[in-house]
Amino acid sequence: MRLSFSCPRCEQSSETELPAEGSPVACAHCGLELTPPPDAWRDGVLTRCLVCPSTDLFIRKDFPQRLGVAIVSFGFAVSCVTWYFYWTTATFAVLFATALADLVLYLIVSDSLACYRCGAQYRQLPTLEHHERFDLETHERYRQQAARVAHLAGSDKREP
Ligand SMILES: [Zn+2]
Ligand SMILES: [Zn+2]
Repeated sequence: MRLSFSCPRCEQSSETELPAEGSPVACAHCGLELTPPPDAWRDGVLTRCLVCPSTDLFIRKDFPQRLGVAIVSFGFAVSCVTWYFYWTTATFAVLFATALADLVLYLIVSDSLACYRCGAQYRQLPTLEHHERFDLETHERYRQQAARVAHLAGSDKREP
């Protein structure tokens, strides 16, 4: 199991082996240790984020964005060449093939678990069936909360 997160203190992103139940998560850059509360795991199921206090986690596709973009860019480049030579069928075949490759990639990549609040990502967890898929409402709640906190921090500074 692997965990990628951005450190709440130094804000650098780390990727580490997920520590055993009860063991702290350590930042590779500044050495900050985040000790999860004892209820973080229940029967081997992660009940909350180990990096921040949030209990809202969602299942997301661990889609390699860069590879997806590379496939689409490659398909587009090839289709430009075939289009230039008036190979209409080949152009559509190439575009169709790249779309299909992206779809297949999407279907074969595994699911991972992510935190709404801090964006920490948990990979290769054995059990995901107790978690839910992405929910826009929850996401929006966290986004607005973060915006409010940023706004308050800003207005604090303005006071004498
Ligand atoms: Zn750090
Ligand atoms: Zn979190």
